[in-house]
Amino acid sequence: MASPINRQIVLASRPEGGPNLANFRLVEAAVPEPRDGEVLLRTIWLSLDPYMRGRMSAAKSYAKRVEVGEVMVGGTVSKVEASRHKDFAAGDIVLSYCGWQDYGVASGEALRKLDPARAPVSTALGVLGMPGMTAYTGLKTIGQPKAGETVVVAAATGPVGSLVGQIAKLEGCRAVGIAGGAEKCRFLVEDLGFDAAVDHRVGDFAHKVKEACPDGIDVYFENVGGAVWDAVFPLLNDFARVPVCGLVAHYNDTTLPPGPDKTPALMRAVLSKRLTLRGFIVRDFAAQAPAFERNVGEWLRQGKIKYREDVVDGLEKAPEAFIGLLKGRNFGKLLVRVAPQ
Ligand code: NDP
Repeated sequence: MASPINRQIVLASRPEGGPNLANFRLVEAAVPEPRDGEVLLRTIWLSLDPYMRGRMSAAKSYAKRVEVGEVMVGGTVSKVEASRHKDFAAGDIVLSYCGWQDYGVASGEALRKLDPARAPVSTALGVLGMPGMTAYTGLKTIGQPKAGETVVVAAATGPVGSLVGQIAKLEGCRAVGIAGGAEKCRFLVEDLGFDAAVDHRVGDFAHKVKEACPDGIDVYFENVGGAVWDAVFPLLNDFARVPVCGLVAHYNDTTLPPGPDKTPALMRAVLSKRLTLRGFIVRDFAAQAPAFERNVGEWLRQGKIKYREDVVDGLEKAPEAFIGLLKGRNFGKLLVRVAPQ
């Protein structure tokens, strides 16, 4: 039998602005051999996330960039093919960080075993994984929503935004989602139970946000920036909290936007309205992982929260799917099914 080949997607060149297919290259390599303490993993699910755009860039960031020629990084759910670690055996399913490739080796210490009986294992990359933890910790710790308040979130059908809005509802808040297109907005209200949804692609978007928030905004969970921030900012109430989680509208920017400098108006509002704007990276709140897993896991089992996945088949499709993610073409947590479970 021919020995298996490890298909890998590497960074071919750094994007200028939005990434395109030429920034990626599919290469073939030998399947790696695990050493003592390591396991050989076969990727089943690859998570595609907006943060990967930052890793493709040479700009200084909070995390290490991918070098040209290196395999694109990413969270994975993998099957143990061979183990040289006492805690893992062939056939185990684990949460791993193998990146955009068929096979990887990892130290056993870097892995978490998943129980397929507890929840579909793909959820370890979405609602029960890093994006879910981002929503839970950012909203609870910085947003601090109280019953009766209005919570607004954009990129609202994605894994972060959809959980933010649903937790806001569980806390007794008015949840308003912002999303691209009528179908996503319908899903937010009819399937996830948001009180209102606004399509950021419509012409009178800012007016529609105002209509959806008659009592102003107490918590704005910032996933996007850009025109969405411009529409939300004037509606912030005194003492509003803004967890600054992501700025996906700006990830492809190469220059500052034209127009007047808005910093003085922002600082005046921060002062006079006593606003709290606080950026965070999910790992800042690692100590909250047990509470997140317990609470969100329980809500999921009880049917109090729902999640949606957008599955693309085949590792070779990852570049196109990732490019689409930054343009809002995904509808739910974007996953690549690299191999059958
Ligand atoms: P999503 O699956 O929601 O995908 C991104 C979405 O952003 C797109 O589907 C699109 O949705 C929306 N979007 C893209 N461009 C624009 C734009 N110009 N204006 C408005 N919306 C836009 O992503 P995630 O849920 O995984 O992530 C959401 C945010 O959270 C991202 O900014 C991400 O970087 C951030 N994040 C931060 C973490 C942290 O530790 N701070 C950890 C994880 C995520 P639509 O079609 O509805 O516009």
